[in-house]
Amino acid sequence: MKNPVALLFAHPDDETFLAAALSRKLADEGHPPVLLVATRGDAGMRGSEQAKLLGSGLGAARERELADAARILGIGAVGQLGYPDGKLEEADEKEAVRRAAEFLRTYKPSALVTFPPDGGNGHPDHKAISRIGTRLVKEGHISGLNQLYYVASPALEEQGRTAELTLDSAEQWTAKAAALAAHTSQSDTIARYFGDLSAPPKDWRYERFYLAWEDGQERF
Ligand SMILES: [Zn+2]
Repeated sequence: MKNPVALLFAHPDDETFLAAALSRKLADEGHPPVLLVATRGDAGMRGSEQAKLLGSGLGAARERELADAARILGIGAVGQLGYPDGKLEEADEKEAVRRAAEFLRTYKPSALVTFPPDGGNGHPDHKAISRIGTRLVKEGHISGLNQLYYVASPALEEQGRTAELTLDSAEQWTAKAAALAAHTSQSDTIARYFGDLSAPPKDWRYERFYLAWEDGQERF
């Protein structure tokens, strides 16, 4: 991939959970990805006790955490759409597609990575960003952007599909663990999925990417 890969996610930390090894690998190959996040993740309903204590300061804290994680992962640029956390489905979708395209276009991406339609874990914000990313690619808002990849979800795996791209996070674990640790306000959630970060947990070892659409062709 010569042009950068665009990562489009709902919250700060989605990129590290799902595409840390991919980001670090692309950066090491000389093609740092670009990341656009839809919300500041500042609703504070999850993460850790510390996140609740931060209250209105949570958005700013998560912005700093994301900047640290992005630096560790070699992400070349980070954009923020600033929609309310937990309410992305209420946003004007057409407007969100236009704003996302406006930011990403500058970087001339050839592939976009986002959540699958079921949001991976069913989170409404994840489903909403999936719709936004899917429209952005399929409606041709960025010339040269001709591949759409979805990150893994249990539903995709149950369908027996094979991912077009699978990365073993063990090979990039130092970077992935450091980026997870950078999301300090989310430490409780991260511990639940990734344990003490000493090694990739069995269930979260591989990052999988499914090609959903390419050059005008549905791949699902
Ligand atoms: Zn998320």
